[in-house]
Amino acid sequence: MGGCLDSELIEIMARKKVPDNIQVELLTQSARRCCLCFGIDHDYNEKSGQIAHLDNDPSNNKIDNLVWLCLKHHDKYDSSTSQSKNYTIKEVIGYRNSLYEKVNTLREAAFSSSLADVSNNKTAHIEQDLKNDIRELLGRINPIIVEKLDKGQIAIPVMISLPKVNSLQQLTTNEQFSKFLKIQPTGSVNIGFNNQVGNSINDLDQGYLQGYILYPTGSLKS
Ligand SMILES: [Zn+2]
Repeated sequence: MGGCLDSELIEIMARKKVPDNIQVELLTQSARRCCLCFGIDHDYNEKSGQIAHLDNDPSNNKIDNLVWLCLKHHDKYDSSTSQSKNYTIKEVIGYRNSLYEKVNTLREAAFSSSLADVSNNKTAHIEQDLKNDIRELLGRINPIIVEKLDKGQIAIPVMISLPKVNSLQQLTTNEQFSKFLKIQPTGSVNIGFNNQVGNSINDLDQGYLQGYILYPTGSLKS
């Protein structure tokens, strides 16, 4: 029993050590879906769960080493030993990648259709809606971009995946857009997967990432 408590304590301490911004990133990426429920049981429902360290090293809080697992699968993953053929890191990473892709695709679809709704009703597309749309899109590319905007940074380099470039271009068709933002392509292209390009890139779509510099021209705060 004592051992059980100890390991629970260690786990709680380990969970506490995951920095807030990383936790937010993980919860956003996973949308609190358990990738093992998703990958194995085809269950895409939101789950109560915990942040698990793939390599079982509670001090390794890199986003790549973290995954949102439901309680059942977290227990099962942590109890993996060389003797019982439980889930391997690679297997879980594979399911996690598929899950993130699915989350992202659904978000992109929902966002595009909400943009379409707005542009179908142009009179309702007041400035505030546009600001909100720009903020939401930039936040989904990387929450840090919005922080930089709010701090008044005058030029923000970003890498953006194609689906989000398309969403951004859709926004630029609004005549008010340039009141808030100017966008200049840098011509640089990277192959990105799961946001490990550069140090400030967080665009989850698989595929090409295109370089842009954002020049804020007006406050995007509400
Ligand atoms: Zn699960």
